Amino acid sequence: MCCKNTQKQRLSLCTFIVFTLLCFAIILIIMEKLAFHIPYVRLDDAELSEADRQLVEAAKQATETSYAPYSQFRVGAAVLLDNGVVVSGSNQENAATPNGICAERCAIFHANATWPKVAVQAIAIAARDTSGAFTERPISPCGMCRQVLAETEHRYGKSLRVLLYGTAGTYLIEGVSGLLPFAFDESFL
Ligand SMILES: [Zn+2]
Repeated sequence: MCCKNTQKQRLSLCTFIVFTLLCFAIILIIMEKLAFHIPYVRLDDAELSEADRQLVEAAKQATETSYAPYSQFRVGAAVLLDNGVVVSGSNQENAATPNGICAERCAIFHANATWPKVAVQAIAIAARDTSGAFTERPISPCGMCRQVLAETEHRYGKSLRVLLYGTAGTYLIEGVSGLLPFAFDESFL
C-alpha cells in the first residue's frame, strides 16, 4: 500500500515537471522576440570630417578643465550648435559624491543656458585615464547623460550626432536613440 502511494507521488511529480516544462516551451515559442539594432561606425582620425575632428579636439582640450581630484578620470565634452558655436564642459567632482556633474551634462547645460534657442547638432566626448593618457577605448556617456542627450534631441526636434573618442578610433552614432533605447520622454507623462 505504502509502495503504491510512493509510486503515485512520483508519477504526480513527474507529471507536474513535464507540464511545467511544456508551459515554458510554449511561452518561449509564442513570445514575440524583439531587438534593437544600434548602428554606429568606427572612424580613424583621418576618416573624421574636418568639423568632427575639430569637435573631438575641443572635447580633448576640455579634459584640461576637469576637476577630478577623487577619480583622476578627466572627461571633456564639446557641443556643436546650429550657429556654429562650440561649447565645452568637463566633469566636476565633489567630496560629497552625488554633487558632481559629468562632462556631457556640463557641456549640454552650458550650451542650453547660453544659447537656449539654438539647437544642438553634435557632441564629442573624450577622457584621460588615471595615468593622464587619453583612453584607448571610446568613453561612453552614463545613463543620466544619455537621458539628458535624449531630452536635448526632443527639445530641438532634431537628431543629435554623438562622437565618442578613443585613441583606437572614434565611434560615430547618428542619434541618441542608439544610446538609450526605451528612453523616457514626455509622451509618458
Ligand atoms: Zn554622465
